[in-house]
Amino acid sequence: MFIFADMIDVRSDTVTLPSAEMMTAMFNAKVGDDVFGEDPSVNKLEQYAANLFEMEAALFCASGTMSNQIAIKVHTQPGDEIICHHLSHIYQYEGGGIAFNSGCSVKLLNGNYGIVSASDVEEAINPSDIHKAQSRLVCLENTTNRGGGACYTIEQIAAIQQVCEQHQLLLHLDGARLFNALVANGETPAAYGKLFNSISICLSKSLGAPVGSILLGSTTFIAKARRIRKIFGGGMRQAGYLAAAGLYALQHNVERLTTDHHHAQLIASALLNSKFVQKLLPVTTNIVIFEVAEPFSAKEIVEAFKKNNIYVMQMTKNQIRFVLHLNISIQMVETIIQTIKSI
Ligand SMILES: *Cc1c(COP(=O)(O)O)cnc(C)c1O
Repeated sequence: MFIFADMIDVRSDTVTLPSAEMMTAMFNAKVGDDVFGEDPSVNKLEQYAANLFEMEAALFCASGTMSNQIAIKVHTQPGDEIICHHLSHIYQYEGGGIAFNSGCSVKLLNGNYGIVSASDVEEAINPSDIHKAQSRLVCLENTTNRGGGACYTIEQIAAIQQVCEQHQLLLHLDGARLFNALVANGETPAAYGKLFNSISICLSKSLGAPVGSILLGSTTFIAKARRIRKIFGGGMRQAGYLAAAGLYALQHNVERLTTDHHHAQLIASALLNSKFVQKLLPVTTNIVIFEVAEPFSAKEIVEAFKKNNIYVMQMTKNQIRFVLHLNISIQMVETIIQTIKSI
């Protein structure tokens, strides 16, 4: 499958390739024009996801960025303010889309490992004052990418949801890796469905589909989201070939995420004993992030791994990230550990 058969690519869980079984599901998909609402495979995936989360409706989108940006657009008016963590994907990695697409400002929160608390959220809400932007939407990320794959507890989220309800704010979840959190904490999608006005999940990360994301919400919300998706150029035609991969991923690749989490723990243990590592973030899911200790530089460590055919990501000036996924075997993890010991 790999172009470079011996390449160990842990830069991201987006590098996963579809399995033979997934490609068979894609090849056999029944398709139609999804802009006409006539693609049976897309409709099936959307219905399946909505049922799973016990939410009214779902929309298949081209990417996680697209589903987040559609949600923000539907929930807000220009001039509104969004409350989120300063490391969140919607703020850091979506090209300024909050301003570009929705004309909104942001109130950025601190908090350990990308996690915000109910009291942080409450304090960030603007008073009803004509000088202030109208606080409208709270966006959480679970698991947190820059926070090292950290998860919220459902109680933390329920407390934030209460604050939102009291202050008539809407609540969106960037759940690009939500299934990693669900598997790690033994929680159900339905428990999340009850707490959020909208949820975005990625099929193309460690669930292993080549393309796609799902946006979930009420029937009214998804009707508006479908219109915005079209405006954003995301109305796809015979998208059922992609939706079939997404459905296969949801049905076959969720429980196995525990394997990736175990692999992440093994790598974290090896890193803890190593002289080029400091400030390893707590590892709870499939992401491992650490700071490179002096006199080593992150660039130099990335190169050292590369010499052993291991591709890791430099995240910031001195942080390196590993992300585990379904194309990384235990043998590859052992090679990574041997390499860590040799640097
Ligand atoms: C990957 C990711 C997204 C969406 O990314 P796309 O590449 O657009 O699918 C959104 N949020 C988080 C936290 C992510 O890690």
